[in-house]
Amino acid sequence: MAVPQHAQNAEGNLPNLLGMTLPEMTTFFAGLGEKPFRAKQVFRWIHHFGVDNFDDMTDLAKSLREKLPTLAAIEPPKLMTSQESKDGTRKWLLDVGTGNGVEVVFIPEADRGTLCVSSQVGCALDCTFCSTGKQGFNRNLTTAEIIGQLWWAKRELRKAIGSAAGQPTDIPDDIAAKDGRIVSNVVMMGMGEPLANFDPVTNAMDIMLDDHAYGLSRRRVTLSTSGIVPNLIRLKTRCPVALAVSLHAPNDALRDVLVPINQKYPLAELFAAITDYLEAAPRDFVTFEYVMLSGVNDSVQHAHELVELVKDIKCKLNLIPWNPFPQADYQRSSNNAIHRFREVLQNAGLIVTIRKTRGDDIDAACGQLAGQVVDKSNRASASKAGKTIAIKSVSA
Ligand code: SAH
Ligand code: SF4
Repeated sequence: MAVPQHAQNAEGNLPNLLGMTLPEMTTFFAGLGEKPFRAKQVFRWIHHFGVDNFDDMTDLAKSLREKLPTLAAIEPPKLMTSQESKDGTRKWLLDVGTGNGVEVVFIPEADRGTLCVSSQVGCALDCTFCSTGKQGFNRNLTTAEIIGQLWWAKRELRKAIGSAAGQPTDIPDDIAAKDGRIVSNVVMMGMGEPLANFDPVTNAMDIMLDDHAYGLSRRRVTLSTSGIVPNLIRLKTRCPVALAVSLHAPNDALRDVLVPINQKYPLAELFAAITDYLEAAPRDFVTFEYVMLSGVNDSVQHAHELVELVKDIKCKLNLIPWNPFPQADYQRSSNNAIHRFREVLQNAGLIVTIRKTRGDDIDAACGQLAGQVVDKSNRASASKAGKTIAIKSVSA
């Protein structure tokens, strides 16, 4: 039976059920001569109950439980390390094979718990201020590796609050979410450019949104992109979720330098695509991320230009104090500069937040995360096999 390639495990042999959407799993079970409700049961066991062993799926017929291990696997990435910060932020390192690792960060807040998820090992887009970009690119993550980050986080968090896998009724997600102990929000803001890995990312988001899996609302899943316009257009119909766009500059000349993909998809095209996207989006505004780089994009003049640029689009602005990393030629804007910049925007009636730093005692703050990338692109001089790199998280 044909199994979607992205649903296969690392060796490409047994199909990995962890990476299948519910319709894909239904097709898979139909190929085994099983009814659709069997697929739904297994799907729920894996994602809702956090189970990775067919033996634990107690409502499946014994004969099916016995044959499934010969036909399919449930294979999350391997959990390497787990850390917790003084402020409750948690960070996990996941092994994705051949010397590569990605980190996942959970940021608890009073009214929500946000998970920052990666989409690629490294990134090919080479934004000049970004540590992931500077480390080069190895490969796209599979659907299983993307959803596996949420699978692990949910399982580990449940363990931490005393509810074992397979016993979901102890603390219903909607109640636990209110005290920020369970994942209530996902931001695709870890390592990589999610729109450069379209199918696995959208399939993983389908699973995040599925009521039989994680049941997240579209408003609580945010995709952050540097602006791959054709795929933003596709996202509108394929899987509209909340949108964040990495802007970082108020004009094409500067953005061409900071975010080189702008040379291919300049601001006018990007803004047209965002405006169109918002028609279908679960939130009627876009969040613009703007990293504050001293003397580069943080002047009062830049702020006025930014006001002009965004005046016709419904948006919120998130100013990100830049986090340094080795070999970077930038400096973080001073607090004064950031506040002056914010004031100009606020005086023009814009909604502006300044991103807080969380989890910095365990290197989990924005720009501090250490994964591992074996750079295959050989583009970044700093990228050597197995080198520790930084990826970013947010307190969105
Ligand atoms: N590729 C996507 C998502 C991952 S990056 C994107 O670019 O939007 C997530 C956010 O972290 C982006 O806004 C990115 O510009 C920002 N970022 C990158 N490097 C950073 C650094 N050193 N300090 C602070 N923010 C950074
Ligand atoms: Fe890639 Fe985003 Fe970093 Fe740019 S900011 S290099 S798109 S991860």
